[in-house]
Amino acid sequence: MKITFIVPAIGKKPGQKYIGTWKMEPLTIAVLKALTPPEIENETVTAELFDDRTELIDYDTKTDLVCISVETYTAKRGYKIAAKFRERGIPVVMGGYHITLCPEEAAEYCDSVIVGNAETVWGRMLLDFYHGELKKRYTGETAEYEIQPDKSIFNGKKYLPVSLVETGRGCIHSCEFCSISRFYNSRYYSRSHDLIVDDIQKSKHRYTFLVDDNLVADHENAMRLFEKITPLNIKWAGQGTLSMAKNPNLLKAMKKSGCEIILIGFESLNKENLKQMNKSFNLSLGERDELVKRVHDAGIGIYATFVFGYDNDDERTVEDALEFAKKHNFYTAAFNHLLPFPNTALYNRLKTDNRLIYDKWWLEENYHYGELSFEPKKISAEKLSELCRLARKEFSAPKTVLSRGFASMGRTSPLMWSLFWAMNLRLGEEIDQKMYVPIGENLDELPK
Ligand code: SF4
Repeated sequence: MKITFIVPAIGKKPGQKYIGTWKMEPLTIAVLKALTPPEIENETVTAELFDDRTELIDYDTKTDLVCISVETYTAKRGYKIAAKFRERGIPVVMGGYHITLCPEEAAEYCDSVIVGNAETVWGRMLLDFYHGELKKRYTGETAEYEIQPDKSIFNGKKYLPVSLVETGRGCIHSCEFCSISRFYNSRYYSRSHDLIVDDIQKSKHRYTFLVDDNLVADHENAMRLFEKITPLNIKWAGQGTLSMAKNPNLLKAMKKSGCEIILIGFESLNKENLKQMNKSFNLSLGERDELVKRVHDAGIGIYATFVFGYDNDDERTVEDALEFAKKHNFYTAAFNHLLPFPNTALYNRLKTDNRLIYDKWWLEENYHYGELSFEPKKISAEKLSELCRLARKEFSAPKTVLSRGFASMGRTSPLMWSLFWAMNLRLGEEIDQKMYVPIGENLDELPK
């Protein structure tokens, strides 16, 4: 019995290269591979992976079952890929964040959906399939994920030289736009520290990305984890909230354990916007500049993210965020427009207010990466999309990169400093490549 795993791409412009920063190893597939038994009732089970972000899919591959991991951005492409296999009579199972948020929609495009985390139902689903009793829907439990990924499925694939190691899932907060908080009902689930250590020890690369929706959701747990991984002598990056800067001991332990870069969602500098997005905890933490300084003084670089499209956003707020990012010489920053992910509180509010340009932007034929899918209050959708693009351009301009590079020299290790140039130059180059990528299309695909 053979299983074909597929990771769909967001889309690709004809004749252009795949986008470099969209090529991280897909950890979920390695977890599913680990959960797949080597045999079912004495029949050998084999697996293959096609990563649509880096290679063409062989639609003629000899296989019994296709499993597609779907995010909202890749839903349309995932559904098109599923259709091609189903034409051949091959059943398709789909799972992932988007499938959990929209199971009824996904059920129209495949034979079975996995809602929630797959760990507790994967084995059951395979057994049912083997016996010809595949069910329409499997619902997984949230908390169970004490499994070690089998990364042998990545052999021969071209991914960025960074090992992904999962440390936790979910987040205690309830930001209005966030699909994570919706998926995990504002709860955080930490993973066993022993398994994390094992995963790190098996890593092939010098850099590790600790995959966690909010690494500092539970300070005590985070502190214990950092102490545990310190002897492993790695360099790592992760993501968390600014709350870490309120805890000097935590910052010290983070740095000691090898933290070089932390992604922090500032989202907005505007008080009313933060209130509206239910992220006022960013305000209550205290003076923002001082907290940023503490993280930098601890020797940790910041990947700052901002989001625009809340009701108080206009040209001024985008400019303010850009100036703030330049003032602090962040290691890097993202200036994104807001995207209403299905079934989030944000999506429901915009729908009620009749402000969605497309009901389902992720399926819309004319929707492109970088475009807004709703009407902001104080500025047009087109103008805001352009302002985000210009802010990225300005932040990646040679003068700004140079100034940030020198600031980073004093903060991060020499290793991360050399990576700074490679990363920032690549991000700068990709700004226009990413803009207007047609969602769900891969126009270079060979006709079959
Ligand atoms: S803090 Fe981050 S992960 Fe947590 S709910 Fe808000 S946006 Fe989502």
